[in-house]
Amino acid sequence: MISKSRINDRIEKLAKIGMTDEGGVSRIALTEEYREGLNLLTSWMERAGLSVHIDQAGNLIGRKEGESSNLKAVAIGSHVDSVGNGGKYDGTVGVIAGIELAQHLKEENIENKRPIEIIAFCEEEGSRFQSGGVFGSRAMTGKLNEEDLKVVDDNGDSRYEVLKAFGLDPANIDRAVRSEEEFELYLEMHIEQGPILVREETPVGIVTAITGLSLTEVIFEGEANHVGATPMDLRYDALLGASEAALAVEEIINRYGGYAVGTSATMEVEPSQVNIIPGKVSTVIDIRDTDLDKRETILAELEEKVKEISMRRNLNYRINNKLKANPANSASHIIQTMKDMSEKHRIKTFEMPSGGGHDAQLLAEITDMGMIFVRSENGSHNPQEFAKAEDIKLGTDLLAHTAIHYINK
Ligand SMILES: [Zn+2]
Repeated sequence: MISKSRINDRIEKLAKIGMTDEGGVSRIALTEEYREGLNLLTSWMERAGLSVHIDQAGNLIGRKEGESSNLKAVAIGSHVDSVGNGGKYDGTVGVIAGIELAQHLKEENIENKRPIEIIAFCEEEGSRFQSGGVFGSRAMTGKLNEEDLKVVDDNGDSRYEVLKAFGLDPANIDRAVRSEEEFELYLEMHIEQGPILVREETPVGIVTAITGLSLTEVIFEGEANHVGATPMDLRYDALLGASEAALAVEEIINRYGGYAVGTSATMEVEPSQVNIIPGKVSTVIDIRDTDLDKRETILAELEEKVKEISMRRNLNYRINNKLKANPANSASHIIQTMKDMSEKHRIKTFEMPSGGGHDAQLLAEITDMGMIFVRSENGSHNPQEFAKAEDIKLGTDLLAHTAIHYINK
C-alpha cells in the first residue's frame, strides 16, 4: 500500500536533520547533516528491499534487480540537499515517493521484470559551490568539466577536496557516468514551486517539458560625468541604456507569449553615486522557454535591440552568453501513460511545463523522461514552502501506477 502516513512521517523525520530556528531546512550538500540524511534514506531503502551504494559523485542509489537481468532499469529520483534555510518538501518528496514505491512492491509481492533504481542526486541546488547545481545528475550523464571539481565553497575548500573528505574518490568521478543502455526511463516527482496548480485547484501536474534557461550578461558603457554640469543632450548615460533593455525584455517576451519568460535580473551600476551620471552598467538577463528555437530567436531579437539602443544613445556594449541549458521534453508515451493512469485512478491532473530546472532535465539526455508535480503553496526555497499530505499521496499514487506500468513491460 502507498501509505500517506508513512510518507508524511518520513518527510517530517528528514526535515529534522538540519532544521533551522524558523522551521526551515539547511541540509547543504556533502555536509555532516547531508550525510545524516543519506544514512536515514539508506535505512529506508534497505527496509524496502533495495541494495544501496553511493557513487563517486555522491549520488545515493538503491537498486533492486529485475527477474530479467538483461533489461534496462526504471529509475526514479530527486534530491535531498537544500538551499540555506529552505523548505522541507523541495526534492525530498520525490526521493521519499520513490522509496515508498519500492516498499509497496515488496509488501504487495509485486514482481519486477526490470531492475528499479531509486536515486538521491547530489547537490541539485548548487548552494554549496554556487556553480549552477544539478551536480550529481551532470556527473551521471557525463556533463562535468574540469572546472566543476575546482570550484570552492565559502570556506575556500574545492569540490574535489570536499568530495574526498566525504569519503569519495573524485579522481575517479567518471565512474559515476551511466550509459543509455542502462536505463529504460527516468521518473521524477517534485513540488511545483510555482502558483499554477493552486490556481487550477488541481493537486497533481503532469510535466510536458522542462524549460531551457539562458543567462546573458549585457554591459553598457557610456560616460560618467557631473549630473549638474552636463546638459541633457550631451550625456551618455549607461543606466538609461540598461533600463531600456530591461523594458525591451518585457516587450519582446510578451509579444512571443506562450511559455517564454524573461527577466532583467541584476543591474550593477558604476559608479552608483549621487552627483555622477552612471558610466557603466552590467545587467544579467534570464530568458527561458520550452522551445529551443524560439528561445534563440528571442535572444537574437534582444541582441538587435541592445545594438539599436546603444547606437541611438551613443553607448558601447558587450554581450556575454554566461549559461545555456537545453530544454527537455517529457517522452510522449510517458505523458500518455500518466494521463491514462490518472483517469483510471481518478486523480485530477493538469498538464504544464516546468519553469525550474531539475535533475530530470539531465537524465533526459540519456533516457526517456517523465515528471510529476505536486501542488505547493508559499513558493519554495523558504521555510513556509508547503505541500498537503493528501496531494503528496496523490502524486505518489500516480508515480507508482506509472512506474509499475513500465517495470513489467
Ligand atoms: Zn528541487
